[in-house]
Amino acid sequence: MQTKTNQPVAIITGASRGIGAAIARRLAEDGYAVVVNYAGRAVDAQEVVAAIAAAGGNAFAAQADVADGAAVARLFDAAIERYGRVDVLVNNAGVMPPALPHLVDTDDAAFDSIVGVNLKGTFNTLRAAASRMAQGGRIVNLSSSLVGLAMPGYAVYAATKAGVEMMTNILAKELRGKEIRVNAVAPGPTATELFLDGKTDEQVQRLAKMPPLERLGQPDDIAAAVAFLAQPGGWVNGQTLRANGGIV
Ligand code: NDP
Repeated sequence: MQTKTNQPVAIITGASRGIGAAIARRLAEDGYAVVVNYAGRAVDAQEVVAAIAAAGGNAFAAQADVADGAAVARLFDAAIERYGRVDVLVNNAGVMPPALPHLVDTDDAAFDSIVGVNLKGTFNTLRAAASRMAQGGRIVNLSSSLVGLAMPGYAVYAATKAGVEMMTNILAKELRGKEIRVNAVAPGPTATELFLDGKTDEQVQRLAKMPPLERLGQPDDIAAAVAFLAQPGGWVNGQTLRANGGIV
């Protein structure tokens, strides 16, 4: 089914819940036709699509494991088939296991899973976007303020996000001539399953008090930073914006 649109088109990976769902709703409000990618939670993704449609927006849900390059190619094909082009890619899909052992106790399966989704997944979508995105496009990657905080227990997770920041910077340079801007947003602690799972109330409260603004980030706080970088015609390129209440 082809429903080509005159709206700008955004793919948001991992948009079935948390920060990605807030980004999808925000970009739909800003006038984008939105591709709501998810890994396994189809019902959650359909709820995001339904909320966007109820608000008068245009969206569809598309399953793809970003760690799988062929699945990512199909995701871009589906977006282009449905909407005709891709103007914005938000690389939001990410995993952080609730258990955060020190590096010495981290097993191969945990390492492979975190690197597969956060680093290879971002690589897969960036490579697909670099060849298929419309002139003047924008890419926003999700990093983490843990790259600056460097807290024990987060060695592998923060390493993947440091890699995301480096790919952000270098891809921005490699896309010279295409007028595609590539930036990253690095949230601090944000109230989603990824952050809250496995933590006691005491741990959550302690982390919430760390930034001078003394609260957790909300998904909409992060969506606002992404929406800023997703605007057409900006001058910010190859940068990482920390959206974290001042924690680092
Ligand atoms: P959530 O765990 O709440 O949501 C994760 C989303 O990613 C879900 O939509 C999930 O889909 C999707 N996803 C997971 N694995 C894959 C995969 N292999 N392929 C496609 N989609 C996948 O996470 P957050 O909203 O908290 O995090 C969003 C991003 O922000 C991540 O990159 C995270 O690292 C980053 N971040 C988060 C912070 C926080 O404190 N929350 C702080 C700093 C950075 P499904 O529902 O189908 O499982």
